[in-house]
Amino acid sequence: MKDRKAALVTGAARGIGLATAERFIAAGYGVALLDNNDTTLDEAIRQIGDEAPVIKLACDVSDEQQVADAVAQVKSHFGRIDALVNNAGIADFMPVTDTSFEVWKNILATNLNGPFLCAQACIPHMVEQGGGAIVNITSISGLRASTLRTAYGTSKAALAHLTKQLSAELGEHRIRVNAVAPGPIDTAMAKKVHDDAIRADYHAQIPLNRYGLESEVANVIYFLCSDEASFVTGQEVCVDGGFDTTGIGLTTLRSR
Ligand code: NDP
Repeated sequence: MKDRKAALVTGAARGIGLATAERFIAAGYGVALLDNNDTTLDEAIRQIGDEAPVIKLACDVSDEQQVADAVAQVKSHFGRIDALVNNAGIADFMPVTDTSFEVWKNILATNLNGPFLCAQACIPHMVEQGGGAIVNITSISGLRASTLRTAYGTSKAALAHLTKQLSAELGEHRIRVNAVAPGPIDTAMAKKVHDDAIRADYHAQIPLNRYGLESEVANVIYFLCSDEASFVTGQEVCVDGGFDTTGIGLTTLRSR
């Protein structure tokens, strides 16, 4: 088992995290699926199949001790940690005046403290084994301001900068750190915060004119962790159907 490369994916019980876990398994990795929801974690393991080289870790990424224990389990089970994917995230869209301090703290705790704690716990193992890769899942909401996303958008913009900070510091240890910024992807999270009107707006503003698939994000995450991306660090790659590229007028021009 210790010769097999190993990846730790947070928020892996469903959505982009589960698709990412499956992508790493397909590439021959052992995968630690970490999530705070034990029930959906069990469903994910059932979906992946008992034979796969996986372990499940019930853990809240914003809890320092739980993260330390979980990372120790990954190291003890797989003997190494080659890739960390900081995917666990929460979204609550609301006006700034309705954003209670509790909501603000919860979103920052999962979306920013979580990746910081997971990276900090994994880095010593990566340094010891001579390298590794970290991918943080940000969002186009961290690149382009929009309404109702004061906490969520700010947490993702901060995570994008954490990505750069880590890449600057860890390059000498051959640890690459990148971010993937998804546009709208049809996951449970998107279904929760995107009603029909929002979905129509996104379609109108996205050159590829559709929501993305979880697997399309997972492929880019895997690429950035793989040796194919061996000279790529400190980057934020949008997987957004072109949303970040366009300004005003797309809908009008498209109809001509
Ligand atoms: P989902 O809500 O479908 O899945 C996220 C998973 O993370 C859930 O299983 C959730 O568990 C778990 N989780 C939440 N908080 C914690 C925590 N504190 N500790 C451990 N696990 C936790 O999300 P998506 O797959 O849609 O999104 C994944 C990432 O991609 C997120 O970071 C999100 O911000 C980002 N993203 C998603 C977009 C989209 O359109 N879907 C667009 C842009 C970015 P629980 O069951 O408790 O919720």
